[in-house]
Amino acid sequence: MDDNTWMSSEETIKLFEQYVIPNYGRFPVSLVRGEGSYVFDSEGNRYLDLFPGWGCNLLGHCPGPVVEAVQKQVSTLIHVPNTWYMEAQGLWAKALSERSFGGQAFFCNSGTEANEAAIKLARLHTPKQRYKIITFEGGFHGRTLGSTAATAQPKYHEGLGPLMAGFVYAPYGDLDTVAELVDDETAAILIEPVQGEGGIRIPPDGFLRGLRKLADENEVLLIFDEVQTGCGRTGDWFAYQGFDVAPDVMTLAKAICGGLAGAAMLTTAEIARSLRPGMHAATFGGNPIAATAGLAAIEMIEHENLLEHARQLSGFFRERLDELRRQCELIREVRIRGLMIGIELSIEGGPTVKACMDRRLLVNCTQGTVIRLLPAMNLTPEQAQTGCDILAEVLQHQAGGDATQQ
Ligand SMILES: *Cc1c(COP(=O)(O)O)cnc(C)c1O
Repeated sequence: MDDNTWMSSEETIKLFEQYVIPNYGRFPVSLVRGEGSYVFDSEGNRYLDLFPGWGCNLLGHCPGPVVEAVQKQVSTLIHVPNTWYMEAQGLWAKALSERSFGGQAFFCNSGTEANEAAIKLARLHTPKQRYKIITFEGGFHGRTLGSTAATAQPKYHEGLGPLMAGFVYAPYGDLDTVAELVDDETAAILIEPVQGEGGIRIPPDGFLRGLRKLADENEVLLIFDEVQTGCGRTGDWFAYQGFDVAPDVMTLAKAICGGLAGAAMLTTAEIARSLRPGMHAATFGGNPIAATAGLAAIEMIEHENLLEHARQLSGFFRERLDELRRQCELIREVRIRGLMIGIELSIEGGPTVKACMDRRLLVNCTQGTVIRLLPAMNLTPEQAQTGCDILAEVLQHQAGGDATQQ
């Protein structure tokens, strides 16, 4: 389209080398434009994006209804502080409440912030001696210091100690250990209903229900981190609905605003009473732009029947990837919940990601060996087919290459 108005990738990379802190591993490509499940680089190459926006772009790049709503709002009112009432924030809270467990919302700007709010709320709401929070190995809750301590993966703790006290780690799926860990100092259990960054790990049958029972028996809060699983990702509005277990507190971010920054913590009205004026805040939380985008995202999912579409796409990926697993010895296991897809390989996944990128397909690798896809809900079946074909070609080529080396 207007490709030659962009700086080359090389020029942009030069800027980064001089002026941007190098705390991310980046592909040597500058992305300039996105449209649905396609994204374009400054050289005009088009990529099929099966990992749009690290899970944030659940409605694809630049979803029309969100773009329009934000364009209108941005020229009307950009930001007012939470010392005032604002219509969009109220309507957004209502929309989230009606689609979840009927509670109230606190708004902030990122997943880690939503989890910080939940950690504070757990300590504030429970009796004074209760401060411990049980979290799970392989989990991921964000990068602020509280959420880092909540994240039971040693690689994220290196060099940062001493960490915030009070977090206790249990193996994911191990109800007996959780039962042993709960004591009269426990305030909460914090868990992702499906682990995302941990490699798309789906809980064993009855595990989340078991946690609910333990929490109830011990007057401990059950907190679901649905930052990655929420807002339609699993084919339900929220992943917990598919497991038939409601949390006391739920955190949301990533896809919540259709690709813009935004986050929320939801809880019941009764628990919410423990947060009184002055006890917690986020300056930009629930601002009119985020609220408008969040509402537009919910409406788009409903108008375009995307929950149902996501479930159908999930079935397609399941069929196609199971078939590929039977044909390709490099695939150990395929784990799918809605549009959270993990393909566990018997080799390091980095070269697979690179080979897919060379064929203009974007996928992610987590935990070293798990190819992770978080496709958009409005991906077309044809695009899903193309993505699976490219991935199959890459993996079969890699399997062949390995065989000749032996
Ligand atoms: C991404 C993620 C977070 C952190 O979200 P940020 O917006 O990067 O702070 C927290 N929890 C889960 C489950 C996530 O996937």
